[in-house]
Amino acid sequence: MERFLIKFFSLIVVAIITVSPLKAGDINGIRFWKDPEKTRLVFDVSEKAEYKLFTLQNPHRLVIDFKNADLKTDLNKIDVPKDLVSKIRSSEKSGELRIVMDLTHEVLTRDFTLNPYQNYGHRLVVDLREKNARKQVIKTADSVIKQKNRDIVIAIDAGHGGEDPGALGKKGTREKHVTLEVAKRLAALVNKEKGFKAFLTRSGDYYIGLEQRTKLARKNRADLLVSLHADGFTDPRVKGASVWVLSTRGANTEMGKWLEQREKSSDRLGGVESLQNKDPLVAQVLIDLSMHYSVGESIKAGEEVRKQLKSRMSKMHGKGLRKAAFMVLRMPDIPAMLVEMAFISNPTEEKLLKTSKQQNKIARAVFEGVRKYFRANPPDGTYLANLAKAKSHRVARGDTLSEIAAEYGVSISRLKSHNKLKSSRLRIGQVLSIPEV
Ligand SMILES: [Zn+2]
Repeated sequence: MERFLIKFFSLIVVAIITVSPLKAGDINGIRFWKDPEKTRLVFDVSEKAEYKLFTLQNPHRLVIDFKNADLKTDLNKIDVPKDLVSKIRSSEKSGELRIVMDLTHEVLTRDFTLNPYQNYGHRLVVDLREKNARKQVIKTADSVIKQKNRDIVIAIDAGHGGEDPGALGKKGTREKHVTLEVAKRLAALVNKEKGFKAFLTRSGDYYIGLEQRTKLARKNRADLLVSLHADGFTDPRVKGASVWVLSTRGANTEMGKWLEQREKSSDRLGGVESLQNKDPLVAQVLIDLSMHYSVGESIKAGEEVRKQLKSRMSKMHGKGLRKAAFMVLRMPDIPAMLVEMAFISNPTEEKLLKTSKQQNKIARAVFEGVRKYFRANPPDGTYLANLAKAKSHRVARGDTLSEIAAEYGVSISRLKSHNKLKSSRLRIGQVLSIPEV
């Protein structure tokens, strides 16, 4: 009997253990990403999160109640943005895990879940925006356009970022890191060149939607957008760089279709709705109307960049310029190209992509191509356009040879030899011929 009872009770114990609600998910990590417009808070969870989220005032707090979840991360070890979150606390009550973040000020929130992708598992994403944030004002826009001798503006777009790692190499190299490295190098080259100015659509490891990237290009009055990517493909033997421009008729190759699809899913990955909320027909007509100009210019610019990559790098993927309807290229007003720098899925190229030597080489090739295109096709009102017009300079009172040389972006020695000058002395009214840069 006693034995029977023990057996009986142990059965009950087993039953209780089995019946007691299984934890639906572990919270394995809490991360913050910061971009210029928002702070993104990411919970790494072991399963799709069931949660309730709300904010409280006096003092400002963000509260997230997770159903049947276990906290498997140390809240004290989280790298929190101190300007927004002063403390993170947790408590447990009847199977619910409550995470409370004490905020330094009021925020607007937007939350969504993400499914596993590459190295990431299930995630809950909460975007926190300043309640009273004025729209980010980009100063360059109007000041640039009003200048008589304005700089040519190049939007440099490092593909992916933050929760969207892009393609993944066998050795763990992430596309988002390589694109940012090359983007920074390219921007440095552009900014060193007189008459040019670069800006980065993202300058750190955070996510920006595809639509936002083109919006930034437009706000900054970019003359050209260069989007940098590294390819990933199922076959590790495939290699080589390629340059893509917009095809108004959709992709012209299978590879193009495949890439288009991937870019689309990448945007969903970041939790962005893209153009879904717009009437597709109206959007299409508007795009088509003005697309002809920018596609023509994109092809010219893309061709120059492709030539430079071909002569400086070992191998190109495919022949000629490639065409596909990438979202980031769909700008009716701004010429744009997408540079796939190499295949990160090819072990040799993955290794190369990580080296600063190769990153500099790619940046240099893209820069030379862009510069060549703009020298041949300078937009009106730019320093380069004026330079092309002004073949001569009449010396005015106070002009010095070094100032004139600087103004036209040529060296003093070049200016001197071009005009057969024996000294640096100038006469007022003297006409100097300006050599081509
Ligand atoms: Zn990419």
